[in-house]
Amino acid sequence: MEYVAAVDLGGTKIAAAIAGLDGRVLGRGVRPTAAGEGPGPVLGRMVEAVQEAAHAAGLDLGGARAMAVGAPGPLDPEAGVVLESPNLGWRDVPLRDILAERLGIPVRVENDANLAAYGEYRYGAGQGARYMVYLGIGTGIGFGLVVLGRIYHGATGNTEFGHMTVDLDGPLCGCGRHGCLEAIASGTALAREARAIVARRPDRLQPGETPAAPLVFRLAREGDGEAQQVLDRFVEALGAGVANLVNGLSPDRVVLGGGVMAAGDWLLERVREEARRRAFGAQWRATEVVRAGLGGDSGLYGAVALALDTVQGR
Ligand SMILES: [Zn+2]
Repeated sequence: MEYVAAVDLGGTKIAAAIAGLDGRVLGRGVRPTAAGEGPGPVLGRMVEAVQEAAHAAGLDLGGARAMAVGAPGPLDPEAGVVLESPNLGWRDVPLRDILAERLGIPVRVENDANLAAYGEYRYGAGQGARYMVYLGIGTGIGFGLVVLGRIYHGATGNTEFGHMTVDLDGPLCGCGRHGCLEAIASGTALAREARAIVARRPDRLQPGETPAAPLVFRLAREGDGEAQQVLDRFVEALGAGVANLVNGLSPDRVVLGGGVMAAGDWLLERVREEARRRAFGAQWRATEVVRAGLGGDSGLYGAVALALDTVQGR
C-alpha cells in the first residue's frame, strides 16, 4: 500500500503520522526532540517516529511515496535547510537532503506555522477560504497565510507577524526587539506575568499549579485585579494584531490556534470584540475570525497535505 509520511518537529516533541493517499491518517508515532543533542540524533528520532507510525498502521516504510516536515524557522523552504532556529539551537542544517537520502523518497521542509495554516486550510477551520490568515498562540506566535490554496512565502519563506510591533516601548521579546505581539500575547508572555504575580503574592499559586497562562485565566476569572489587567493587555494586543491583519490584508478567514486559544470560546469572543473595535468596517464584514479546528494537530495535518501535494507534483 502507498502512503505519505508527515512530521511535526517541535521544540519538545517530534510528532509523526502516516496517511493514505486519500489523506486519512493511518498511524502515529512520537519521540522527544531533545534538540540539545544536535541534529544527528534528532534526525534519527524523526525516522524512528515515522517508523513507529508506519508500524502502528501495519505498514513497512517501503510504501512511502513522499514525506513533509514542519520545523521551527527561520528556514529556507526551497532548499529545505533550517537556517538558525532558536528553538532547536541549530544553524544551517540541510534537513531535506539528509532525510531524502536516508529514506530514498522526496522530502519537503516547511516552516511549522505555515504548515499549521495549511493544515487548517485543507482539513480544519480554514476550509473553503480564499485568503486565510493563521495565528498560533502558543509558546510563541506562529503566523501563516494561505492565498488561493497556496502557502504565501514572500521572498524568503519566512513571514513573522508574531513579531509585528504592537507597543513601541513594550516588553522585551525573545527575538531581542521590544513590543512585539509575541512579547505580550503569547503563552510565554503570560507565563512571565504569572511568575511576576506569584513572586509578589505566593499565596495565589495553588498546590500542583505552575505559573503559566491557565493561572492568569483562573485568577482573572476569580476577580484578581492584577490578573485581569494582564488578561486585558493580552486581549488588547492580540485584538490589535488581528485588526492589523484584517485591515492590511483583508482576509476572508482568520484562524486562531495554538495552546493558549484552547482556553475556550470566551477568549475568542474577547479577542474578536477587540479586533472588531479596531478594524475597518468593510474588511471586518468580509472576514470570519474562528478557532482552529484541528487542536494540536494543525501542523501535522499540514505536513500530510504538503506530502500529498508532493506526490501529485504540486
Ligand atoms: Zn519579537
